[in-house]
Formats: sequence, structure tokens, C-alpha cells
Amino acid sequence: MASFCNTTIYIQVGVMCVLFSFASNLPSVVNLGGLLNDDDKEVENAFQHGVDEINEDSSILPTKQLSMRLSKLKPQDTFHTFQAACQQLSSGIIGFIGPTTLPSSSLIQSVSTSIEIPHVRLQSDYIANVPNGFSLNLHPSSELLSKAFRDILDTRGWMSYTIVYESNEALIKLKKLLERDTNKSVKISFRQLKPGMSYKKLAKDIGKQGEANIVLDISTWKIKEFFKQAQDIGMMTEYHSYLVTSLDLHTVDLREFQRGRTNITAFRLVSSDHEKERQGWEWAYEGGQYKKVSQQKKTLKTKAALVHDAVKMFALSLHNMSSDITVRIQSIFCDSPEPWTHGNHLLNIMKETKFKGLTGFVEFDQNGTRTNFSLDILELKEEGLRKVGTWNTQFGIQFSTKYEKLVGDVLRQLRNRTLEVVTIINPPYMMMKEPAEQLTGNDQFEGYCLDLLEELSKRLGFKYKIHQVRDGSHGSKNEHDEWNGMIRELINKEADLALADLTITYEREEAVDFTMPFMNLGISILFRTPTKNVPKLFSFLSPLSLEVWMYMATTYLGVSLLFFLLARLTPYEWVPSNSCNPDSNVLENQFSLSNSFWFTIGSLMQQGTEIAPKAISTRVVAIMWWFFTLIMISSYTANLAAFLTVQRMESPIESANDLAKQSSIQYGCLKFGSTKAFFKESNIESYKTMWRVMQSQPTVFTESNLEGVERVLRGNYAYLMESASIEYITARNCELEQIDGLLDSKGYGIATPKGSPYRTPISNAILELQEDGILYLLKEKWWFRKYGGHCKHEETSHSASTNELGLANVGGVFVVLLTGLGLACMISMIEFILKTRRSSRNERDSVLLDFQRKARRIGFRCGLTSHRAETSSWKQSRD
Ligand code: ASP
Repeated sequence: MASFCNTTIYIQVGVMCVLFSFASNLPSVVNLGGLLNDDDKEVENAFQHGVDEINEDSSILPTKQLSMRLSKLKPQDTFHTFQAACQQLSSGIIGFIGPTTLPSSSLIQSVSTSIEIPHVRLQSDYIANVPNGFSLNLHPSSELLSKAFRDILDTRGWMSYTIVYESNEALIKLKKLLERDTNKSVKISFRQLKPGMSYKKLAKDIGKQGEANIVLDISTWKIKEFFKQAQDIGMMTEYHSYLVTSLDLHTVDLREFQRGRTNITAFRLVSSDHEKERQGWEWAYEGGQYKKVSQQKKTLKTKAALVHDAVKMFALSLHNMSSDITVRIQSIFCDSPEPWTHGNHLLNIMKETKFKGLTGFVEFDQNGTRTNFSLDILELKEEGLRKVGTWNTQFGIQFSTKYEKLVGDVLRQLRNRTLEVVTIINPPYMMMKEPAEQLTGNDQFEGYCLDLLEELSKRLGFKYKIHQVRDGSHGSKNEHDEWNGMIRELINKEADLALADLTITYEREEAVDFTMPFMNLGISILFRTPTKNVPKLFSFLSPLSLEVWMYMATTYLGVSLLFFLLARLTPYEWVPSNSCNPDSNVLENQFSLSNSFWFTIGSLMQQGTEIAPKAISTRVVAIMWWFFTLIMISSYTANLAAFLTVQRMESPIESANDLAKQSSIQYGCLKFGSTKAFFKESNIESYKTMWRVMQSQPTVFTESNLEGVERVLRGNYAYLMESASIEYITARNCELEQIDGLLDSKGYGIATPKGSPYRTPISNAILELQEDGILYLLKEKWWFRKYGGHCKHEETSHSASTNELGLANVGGVFVVLLTGLGLACMISMIEFILKTRRSSRNERDSVLLDFQRKARRIGFRCGLTSHRAETSSWKQSRD
């Protein structure tokens, strides 16, 4: 029993010893220095709450009391900051938190480094990678923050924006945003908001530049007033987008802007996971006790959350350190040569400490810079600021709001809207109904675009109000880079949509947004239909070229003569003149010179003669000639038929090149449109020439397409116009026609102000209309069914012309003929030689002599058709 008692006593003593040893590693009260601005009650409350939380938590520093040594400072008063820091050091502290302003914070950083006591900073560094000494920074670095800003601008696709900033350091802070400019296609402007400057004026200036995207880098407390004044001058519409760089936008009351549909985006470091946790301690510390604060103030400032996390970090690190060693906390004097013995150790443990705080996951790199944190992406919706995604150092942006939800939001917005639509009168896209005087509002209009708008409004549920563009122009940029026409009205936000035959161009895309094209087209030439030619008297000669006719005549002569010669030469064409007496010595040849010509012309004319060749050689010539005539006559007949069916018309110009080369016919285009811009910007030599010519005679430009058409009708003028309009005009006016194909390829789209949320749903609706065939039906209706559209244009010489047959087409027939004739000559020679050899075997004459003699005897005289057979051999061979 005694031994049992002893054992129990030992265990109790042992447990007590362990507890005592842990407890004795630290003094019972641990002081933590806080250097805060004296006007920042919320930050002070957060400090107090952090300390209380640790003291209540039995798992961190049990049995010890954490105590805050708070000094309230004037923001820029570095002298007092130094004094306060020295005072805190002399009372024995484990580290500093704050101050929250930059010059004072840098001062404490150097004090803490010299005394070797950890210091937690709470504001972002402007300059990255400077040695931190004994400081850790809980605030994310500017470098990483500006990366987040840059990522969001990339996803938003901002190609132009203005940065509104207060201090010059902001430009260092937003370094990464400026780097977006490297590819030169991003336009960045800067506007400094100097003290006392009117926000309204600044916003107005930005608006005048046509800028709709603004990066707002100003103090949190100025944001609401800035938005208010921007709203007054119409800079807070659905076409304006703001990226607010303050991490405290969630603390600003934005209720009056919620219905304005302005795109406001910001980031929040304070983690949304702590929403509930915060509710428990949202109390104001007043008169020595906590009081519940009003519901409106339930948002937590970043700095307050950072202070809270700083307290927790010190407590956790100290807890870890004191489990290994005994920590002595002593009074230190600012001028003391001896640093705090445990400072370095504590600092290293703090760098290793990881925990989940009010600002999300807390982790540091070896420099004491915060890493691996995430930010909430906030957007202002009708219900208030909402989290739409997160950005973190590892994966960048991740949206949590689904695309369908975003589209759904816009569709909901559209359903309640009456969109202001600007248009231009240009048939058949938009026309005034007759009689226009009795009609008002949208009823005055009709046309393809009106029907399209009606279809879109049915599908998307918006209402619309149409007005005509004030200056009657589509929109072009002048030498001062100022737009006119419908584009100007969109830039000025006087209209929500521009719907007309408005061409999508690169230059316009920079100023406004376009939907998907609803029609495709290209520039072409409108010109008077050429007059028909009076048929020529000798048009039957047209199917063959002169060259071929000449060759045919020569061939005819050649073949006839060859017939004559070969027939003379071959013994088989010689027959007894008296057919009743085959032994007669008188031989006759039917191929006299005239008969040879008669035979060939007979077959050429597809007739016949009673003369028929008998020898193989002459028959070969005949076969070749017949083949030749067969092909030639069929080709001639076929081509003649085509010539007679197609009435050839002559146009003085057949292409844009023809226009460029001549000077007698004037040509022009619309004065303020994309066609003019096309020629102005073109790099193709002939278009450049055309542009120079047009520019030298400004009267060639027209105010409207109608004026252009009238000028073409008056004659000696070609109008450069878009093919869809040409199609419409030429279907109604048979005197006009399109010359040549398209000079380019483009489309008409609906334009919206830059950044318009309506672009995507309208584009989707256009695609649907296209797939449903509605766009096709609308075109059929307005181009060919409504108000005429009956002209059928005949083929003219510049499109499908009939060409005479050249030697290239029929040359092969000549070759075949020549080859055949050559063959016939050879056969004839063989025939002759064989017969001659037989007859000269006894006489031992040479073949040549025999040929000469016989040739002489036969006599190549024209008209000689018979001779006396001299040798028996000729007779024999004939037998
Ligand atoms: N559709 C053109 C435009 O949008 C008009 C033209 O230049 O022919 O400017």
C-alpha cells in the first residue's frame, strides 16, 4: 500500500514537473507590441480580438497570457513612432506588429533588424526583393498583386484602358499591368488624381478619349465619391468597366451603383471562409468593453484581418519555440549593443509557420514574403458585390460563376431594356415607309434590318427605339482620328446598337464591338449594262480564227496538189482509156489537176464526187483529208452554234484593273464608308492607283449609294459599291450591272459600344437565325420579292464569252493530216519503186534514171490525163 502511495506521488510530481517545465519555458505574461494609427479603431479591435482569441484558446500558449502593448501613432510621425517602439522594447516584448503606413513601417524595420526582434509588416512593398531583415510582410507583394490584376485584364480582353492613380509609386505597384503593352496592341493611358482635383473633370476627360475601361488605383475612401461623380457624367453605364485595385472595395457601400449595370471588378484578400467566424466578434471596442456594431459595418478591412493574423502568427510561433527551449523575454533599449538572444530563432520559426487565418492560407518564403495565397474575385451585381471566382499564386484565375449564369444575367438585363438603335436609310436594309409623314417612331421604318431587329427582339426579349444617324454617314475616321456617323454615336453612347449595312472592319473594331456578321459580301463595280453589238455581215467567219482559215486554205491547196502528184506517180491510178479493151496501150489518169482540186473541195464541203482514188497512196491521202475535214467541220459547226446563240456585248471596262488603266470613265464610292477606307489602306498597286485618281477628283465621292446609282445611270461613271447592294440595285434596274467579281471579302455586323454586354447574346441569336434559315428568307424577301427585282442579266462578253477557235484548238488535226500525207508520199514512192524495179531489171538502169525517164515521159503537164504504155511491165502490174 505504501509503495502504491509512493508511486502515485511520483506520477503526480512527474506530471506537475512536465507542466511546470513547459510553463516555465516562458514568463506568464507575454507582451506583443502593436504600432497602429490612432484613428483606426477597427484595426485596434482586430488586434484586441486576436489577443483575446489566443488567451481563450487552450491549445496555443496554455497557462500564459498574451498581452498587447499598443501605441497609437500619427501616420507620418516617424519621431513618435521611434519613441513608441523604444518604449515597447523597454517593457519587454516578443515582436512588433505594424505600423500600417510606409515611412514609419520602414523605420521599425530597421529598428527591429538592429535589435534582432521580429517585425510583421502590413502593407505591400513597392519595391520587390529588397532585404527584409527581421521583417515579414503579411500583405501580398505588389508584384503578385499586379500579376492578379493583369490576369483579370487578360481574361476580360481589355485592349485599351486608362489607369487612374494617385501617387507615383502606384506605377511601380502596377508594373505588371504596364508590361501588357509589350506587343504594342494594348493601349494604356494614365491619369493622375492629384489632391483637390475634380473627379468629374477627370472622368469626363477619360470619356472624351472614348475610353470605357478604367483601372482605379485610388484610396478606398475616395472610391464611392469617384463613382458618384462618374455616374453624373454618364461614365457608369453597362459599357464602362472598372478594375478597382483596392483590396477593400467590399467595405465600400456601392448600393447606389448596383442597378447601373457598370462592370466593377475587384479583389479581396479577406477570406470568405471566415464570414461566419467574423460575425462572432464584430464588436466595437468602446469604453473598455465590446459593443455590437451595426449590420452595415459587417465588412472586415484587409488591415484588420492582417493584424488579427499577425497576432495569431506570433502566438503559434512562440508556442512552437517554447516547447523546445526556455525563452527569456527581457527589456531592451534602443541604443543597446546587445540584440535579443531569441529573436533570430523566433523569426525562423515564424517563417516556417503555416496556418489558416482571416486572410486565407498564411505561408512565407525565406525572404519573409507572403506566398501561396489566394484572392477572391468580386463583381458588382444587382444584388451587390459577389464573389465570381478566385485568383491564386499557383493557378491564376478560376471563375466559379458558370458561363451560362453570366449569359443568363445579361439576358435578364436585356429583357427589361429598351435599346436605342441607330441606323441609316439605304434600301433595302432600312427604308422609310410611304407615306412617312403619317407614321411615327419605329413604324416609319421598314426593310431587311428592321425585320432582323424584330427577330432579335423576339428571341432576346428587348424593346427598341430606332433613330436615323444625324450626319447620314456610316462612320469613318478623319485625319485627327475622330469618328463620325454611326460609329461616333456608339462611342458617345448615344445608341446601344448600330444596325444597317455597316461593314465590319479592323479600324472600326478598335472603336466599337461587332457581333457575328449577318451577311457576307465584297466590293465590286456598278456600271451601265453595255449595248448589244449589231451582228456582223461576215460573222460566219468568227468561229475560226484568221490564222486557222489561212492554214485551211493552204492545206487545201497542198493536199490537192499532192493528190495530183501522187496519182501521176502511182501506176495504180493509170487505167486503160478504153475499158472495153483492157489491152489498149493508152492509159488514163482520173486525177487531173482540176479533178484533184474538185475531189478535195468536194469532201471539205461534206459533199462527194464520183472520183475515187484507187492506189493505196492516194487512198491514204483521201483518208487523211476526210479525217481532217470531219474534225474541222464539226468544230466549226459547234462553235458557230455558240456564236449565234450568245449575242456578244461590249463593255469598255471588264475589271477594276481596266478602270485603273483608263482615264475617260470616272469612278468613285461612298464618302464616309468602309469602301473608301479599303482603297485608302490598300497595298495592291492597281487599287492604290485608283485611290490616287479618286482623291485627285473629290467630286467622285457620293453622299449616299442612291447618288452613286444615279451618277452611273447618267453615264461615264463607275460606282464602287458593296456586292449585296449591287445585287439589289441590278435586280431592279436592268440598265445597270455588276462588273467583274469581288475585290475583297467582308461582312455586315451589328455594332455595339465597346464592352457592351449585349454583344454575345446578339451574336448567338444571329447564329440561330442563320441556322434556322431566317436570314436567307429575309434576303430573298427584300432582294427579289418585295418592290420588284425582276431583271435578268444576260451573259456579257466579260463573263462567259465565246471564243473563236485558234490554232491551239485545232492544230492537232493539221498534224494528223500532215503525217498522213507524208505516209501517203512514202507509200507512193514504194509503189513506184517496186514497179520501176521490175521493169528495169533487164535494162539494168538505175532506179533514179528510170524515175527520171518515166517522169519525163509521163510529163507533168497540167491537163495531161493519158499516155501510151511503153513497157510491158506497167501493163503486167496492172493485170
Ligand atoms: N457598308 C459600308 C460601310 O459600312 C458603306 C460603303 O462604304 O460602301 O461603310
